[in-house]
Amino acid sequence: MATQTTVKTLLILGASGDLTGRLLLPGLARLAAKGRADGLTLVGAGSDPWTREQWLERVEASFADAESEADAAGKRELKRLAGSTSYHQLDVTAGGELSALLSGLPAPVAVYFALPPQVSQKACEVLTPEEVPAGTRLVMEKPFGSSEESARHLNTTLAALVPEDHIHRVDHFLGKATVLNILGLRFANTFLEPVWNRNFIEKVEVIFDEDLALEGRARYYDGAGALRDMIQSHLLQIMALMTMEPPASIDERDLRDAVATLLRASSIKAPYRSSTRRARYTAGSIAGRQVPDYAAETGVDAARNTETLAEVQVDIDNWRWQGVPFILRSGKAMRAKRKEAVVTFKPVPHLPKGFIGVDSPNELRIGFGPDTLQFDVDVNGPGNVLSLDRITLNAELSASELLPYGEVLEGVLAGDPLLSVRADTAEDCWRILEPVIRAWASDTVPPEEYPAGSTGPESWTV
Ligand code: NDP
Repeated sequence: MATQTTVKTLLILGASGDLTGRLLLPGLARLAAKGRADGLTLVGAGSDPWTREQWLERVEASFADAESEADAAGKRELKRLAGSTSYHQLDVTAGGELSALLSGLPAPVAVYFALPPQVSQKACEVLTPEEVPAGTRLVMEKPFGSSEESARHLNTTLAALVPEDHIHRVDHFLGKATVLNILGLRFANTFLEPVWNRNFIEKVEVIFDEDLALEGRARYYDGAGALRDMIQSHLLQIMALMTMEPPASIDERDLRDAVATLLRASSIKAPYRSSTRRARYTAGSIAGRQVPDYAAETGVDAARNTETLAEVQVDIDNWRWQGVPFILRSGKAMRAKRKEAVVTFKPVPHLPKGFIGVDSPNELRIGFGPDTLQFDVDVNGPGNVLSLDRITLNAELSASELLPYGEVLEGVLAGDPLLSVRADTAEDCWRILEPVIRAWASDTVPPEEYPAGSTGPESWTV
């Protein structure tokens, strides 16, 4: 069924950029092919003197995959979207240029800042509230600021332009299906809630290991590193969903209040030498593919000591979680892809004498993209019924038919801020990590190394 969007125009600033071509346009194409972007006009803008044909070529190339899988109605919708698109050359940082474009577009407009962060910030600073038509939505990419203070400054700039629920701070990692999968598991099952606390849970790990290396993204990544790129945004959000108090509803206010409350109670404690670790990959091979030393990659400044593997222990100082370690880890060029949250339960207080074999703590694992659920339990047999064996109960969780950026765009176009990071949370995530960033900058925590294709430095028990 076709879905009429609240937003009439999607204006992408940064039309020639990587994000637009590789993620935004393909995400939009899937959405449109499913009839979920009905009536939308797509407009591209950038600093390049492109013709409409050059932009159209880019749009059509990015739509190709979705088009090949679409039904007849989906194909028609993609043709309509491409046929009505236009391109505008402008310098978003020059006063008056963006506002002039905005005033001529069918409203309401969602303005997607697919621009370098400092350019997005400048573009918002030169806008005045009178130049922003009512109903306009502002879509901000990560990184949102580079510190608590800069995030607060950016929030203040945005708040002067549009209401908070019209600001979308994108976290594409947490698609809607994943958020709802975590919430469904936690809050639709009575058996979990009584054990979901410090009395029964030993530790929780949230892990995002990639088998991809730098892949030509030095310009962005070398200035960021694993801590800022993954832990500051995505992994803290997952931790919050796994640990927050039950909300009364899953509308954006209740949900985002619960996330914010949880993150306010979270911190990484000194000494950072024991609560954090960092490392950088050296040359190696991943599944037969040779990977060069990170420090020798084009565009990398080796003296920066940018980490490609980061691990922190977060403490949540509230009644439910006091004393439980939350380990957040993300690495590039690892032996295998691993994206999951692992909840390790405490061992049984007493195993009746007479049992033999394995008696390991239960583990609940939630896998992300594709979303899965695995539960390790100890059961008897086969053969000797006194002998305990470990088995894993497996389930696949709901999958989205959209790409992650399709889900992001659907929220923006429908005017639903559920998936967007709220202003206070964006600041709080920096507040949690800032002491670590300072400690690492002053070399309090020695940088380590690991060969690409390994499970991390030898000294880490992974
Ligand atoms: P790129 O450098 O590839 O593209 C940036 C775009 O901004 C270019 O089209 C550039 O046009 C345009 N631009 C720069 N200055 C101006 C200006 N003054 N006026 C108008 N347009 C301008 O960056 P990405 O696409 O990689 O990233 C965009 C944003 O998305 C960043 O915030 C990034 O952190 C975020 N992001 C990117 C991801 C990715 O995989 N690429 C993933 C997640 C987030 P021109 O070249 O002509 O100047």
